[in-house]
Amino acid sequence: MKNEIKVKFSALSENEGFARSVISAFIVQLNPTVTEMADIRTAVSEAVTNSIVHGYKNTEGFVELVAKILSKDEIYIKVSDKGCGIADIDQAMQPMFTTDTNGERAGLGFAVMEAFMDTLIVKSKLNQGTTIIMRKKLGVPPLDDDF
Ligand code: ATP
Ligand code: MG
Repeated sequence: MKNEIKVKFSALSENEGFARSVISAFIVQLNPTVTEMADIRTAVSEAVTNSIVHGYKNTEGFVELVAKILSKDEIYIKVSDKGCGIADIDQAMQPMFTTDTNGERAGLGFAVMEAFMDTLIVKSKLNQGTTIIMRKKLGVPPLDDDF
């Protein structure tokens, strides 16, 4: 039987830390390295923040976090919202593209998720919501690791 969790929480910035803690507590059983743990926490945080600030534009709603242990060394993560959706996904995923007009955001959230995880799939429908699916294999040495 696969080990899986599903957590639904209010789209409040206070819950970004909660989501990071939940994912950490779940994946610790896979004995991730410090770097793997940090990468996964950051990727989840970026996805959850996007749901809160872009999907719901800081208004009411719920974010759902699903995580599954696919095998002893692979994790699946899904973050979804029922917010405003993304008009042009390819454009949204371009590094440094942001719809933020306050100069607060760098437009790097998707780039970070892509860099830290092995797979990133973005599904979205305008006015219906957005789903981010990420996978990561643990125990894979970095490319520049030469031993
Ligand atoms: P940063 O993540 O660096 O703070 P950002 O959030 O603008 O900046 P990305 O995370 O790469 O950058 O997202 C790019 C754009 O995609 C956002 O500006 C927003 O327009 C759109 N977007 C991302 N996630 C969602 C979402 N869940 N719902 C609606 N729009 C989204
Ligand atoms: Mg972002």
